[in-house]
Amino acid sequence: MKHESESRALDHLIAGNRRWAEGSVREDPAFFRRLIEQQAPKYLWIGCADSRVPANDIVGLLPGELFVHRNVANLVVHTDLNCLSVLQYAVDVLRVEHVIVCGHYGCGGIAAAERATPLGLIDNWLRHIQDVAERRRAVLARERDPARRADRLCELNVLEQAHNVCRTTIAQDAWRRAQPLSVHAWIYRLSDGLVQQLGFTAADASDPAVRLASAVERIEARAQRG
Ligand SMILES: [Zn+2]
Repeated sequence: MKHESESRALDHLIAGNRRWAEGSVREDPAFFRRLIEQQAPKYLWIGCADSRVPANDIVGLLPGELFVHRNVANLVVHTDLNCLSVLQYAVDVLRVEHVIVCGHYGCGGIAAAERATPLGLIDNWLRHIQDVAERRRAVLARERDPARRADRLCELNVLEQAHNVCRTTIAQDAWRRAQPLSVHAWIYRLSDGLVQQLGFTAADASDPAVRLASAVERIEARAQRG
């Protein structure tokens, strides 16, 4: 009975689910009843798929309060129908007011892109990060220490992805019709659980490239100081 033993392998997760559901109702008897009525999140989180970066927990939001899209290294690729569909639904239908692109230091996707050791299909995905590194090679060259250079690439990658959000037809159309929408670039540190803003917040359609350039300059200045 292979099937039976397979399902038993996850018994602890089902038990964990029961405890979570019971605990949620104990704390707030209307918790699930309220959630089935509607979801009205104000925020879309575009983050890394890394298991150590749990979106809701990091910002202290409950189910129903954060719309979430995660992929390896929090990329926003203009031909990625998955990410674009999440963004379009979040902006046009749910009417979220904030899109947060959140990367993290110590990102395995960033490290793999830097190492460039063949891993298979994912190499094509990581190519986008290598493109960022190529475009920003002057900034990265200022960091001699490999760990610090990886940190800068994590930051630069988030900025480029937030910039990509701004350039989608979805964000541009929202701004054209004066719908409130802000795009933010954040980075999360695994070692202390804290988020930092990266100096990129776009609340209108005015040239996102200018915002990107000034945020990159700040990172460059930090690299020089270090
Ligand atoms: Zn990651």
